[in-house]
Amino acid sequence: MAEVPEVEIIVRDLREAMVGRTIRTAEVLQPASVRYPTFEEFTASLKDRTILDAQRRAKYILLPLSGDLLLAVHFALWGTLMLVPAEQPRLPETLIIWHFDQDKDLRFVDKLGYARAALGPPDVLAEKLDLNSLGPEALDPGFTVDVLARQLSQRRGVLKTVLLNQRILAGLGNRDADESMWLAGIDPQRPAASLSTKELTWLHDAIVRVLNEGIALRGTQRDLFGRKGQAVHRRNIFEKTGEPCPRCGTRIKYVRIGSRNTHYCPNCQH
Ligand SMILES: [Zn+2]
Repeated sequence: MAEVPEVEIIVRDLREAMVGRTIRTAEVLQPASVRYPTFEEFTASLKDRTILDAQRRAKYILLPLSGDLLLAVHFALWGTLMLVPAEQPRLPETLIIWHFDQDKDLRFVDKLGYARAALGPPDVLAEKLDLNSLGPEALDPGFTVDVLARQLSQRRGVLKTVLLNQRILAGLGNRDADESMWLAGIDPQRPAASLSTKELTWLHDAIVRVLNEGIALRGTQRDLFGRKGQAVHRRNIFEKTGEPCPRCGTRIKYVRIGSRNTHYCPNCQH
């Protein structure tokens, strides 16, 4: 599942392997995967553009290109990017291929077909994708307990829903939110604005730890070069309904909160 740690790993790989390289052509195999502009314009505009950097904002991968263009890629639930030899057979779930020199392809794949790419001048793309409305980044060094306290205070709604709102805090997907609240010992059904100072500290530390551990284990998916991450083995409660809580042994409970699958321990999360 592509949450922020998985996206961050691909961004770091792109920075290492793709910055300074020039896209010769782009081949769109599934036109619906281009969110903006039309897929014809997308293909024409990408010809001979050099990748200048690789950045991440929430779950968006942002690649500044020569000619003052920005290429944005969003994995949705299961998308990813793969750097493979050009002669490697194409997976049926391939959405877009960027062809480079040196016989390598950058391939955008998604078995569910929901992943999307977009291209445009940076200000136009920021508006199209609503990038300027995103909240502070949980992986940013500036994300402190005070920032979390400020973002959660005066919010209506339950904690789980508020934590998943990327306009409030950019960085938590469904899995990482459940794991963070378990680690902090806080019930996901609590009103977001009800956390004490001590609980805010626990939650802040848990969020930072869950995201950084995910990155240290190189996520749950394959990286840009096809190496499998190890983070899936470290889940404590996500998708473990009915199994014993690793902390107290109580059976993990499942509940839907705001249409999102939620897993928690009814005994040690308060
Ligand atoms: Zn427990």
